[in-house]
Amino acid sequence: MPGFDVHTHLFAPGQVVGRDSIALGDRTFREMYGDPKAKMATLKQLLDALDEADLDGAVAAGFAFSTEDNLVEQNEYLAAAAKASDGRVIAFATVNPALPGWERVARHAIDRGARGFGELRPHNQGWDPLGEAAAALYSLAHEAGLALLWHCSEPVGHTYPGKAGGISPAELIGVGTRFPGVVMIAGHLGAGASYYLSMPEVRAAIESIYFDTAAASLLYDDESVARLVELAGPDRVLFGSDYPLLSPRRQVQRLAAHLPGTVVDAVCGGNARRLFSDNGKR
Ligand SMILES: [Zn+2]
Repeated sequence: MPGFDVHTHLFAPGQVVGRDSIALGDRTFREMYGDPKAKMATLKQLLDALDEADLDGAVAAGFAFSTEDNLVEQNEYLAAAAKASDGRVIAFATVNPALPGWERVARHAIDRGARGFGELRPHNQGWDPLGEAAAALYSLAHEAGLALLWHCSEPVGHTYPGKAGGISPAELIGVGTRFPGVVMIAGHLGAGASYYLSMPEVRAAIESIYFDTAAASLLYDDESVARLVELAGPDRVLFGSDYPLLSPRRQVQRLAAHLPGTVVDAVCGGNARRLFSDNGKR
């Protein structure tokens, strides 16, 4: 079964080279990539990492920059990378609904073939995930058949660069409830939101929310993905590595050690294929 990674990050080569000057003007970027040891990857490196993990394809997302020039440079690179990848890479565009003109940037990215928006970091960029601009983003995504990828922020536990500034579990469930039908991928196991699927009314309200496993090994114990599968069901869990932060190969191995083979097939590829199949529009 061909495998798929729904959570990787790429940067335009110029942004890798210019990281120091970008860091001066973007607080969240500085927090996450100001340290020269923090890894940044371009397409070739991602394809090598996928080969090494025996994975077929990946969603490539960028970074939630604050300014339009950085967003546009990133989106152009992601669109070009998807085109150059021979169908292996699906581009998610970066948007900032706090900026005037964000809708133009988002529509342009859709025209250039983006299949989703994210990884979204509303509180780093200064927009309310339950506000007006966000609602416009969700309808745009819904109309165009795009998914949303959220950075979910755990309200507890150890800190790490970039932890805060994503969506909280309560906000995620609020957005899912108010905007049913918008396909959303809740990054990092949804920061605990999956627990509330045990509440029947919540489960019924957020059927379009999927959960990815990105950075699971840095956040949770070895059984966490198995528990997520139990709560959300094997069809709603998507393998994500958070490459280049972590190696997809190591993450797949870790996950496969704790799940039955049929579940591994669904989580590591089958579910994503269904979600992003051309028939499914997304
Ligand atoms: Zn994240």
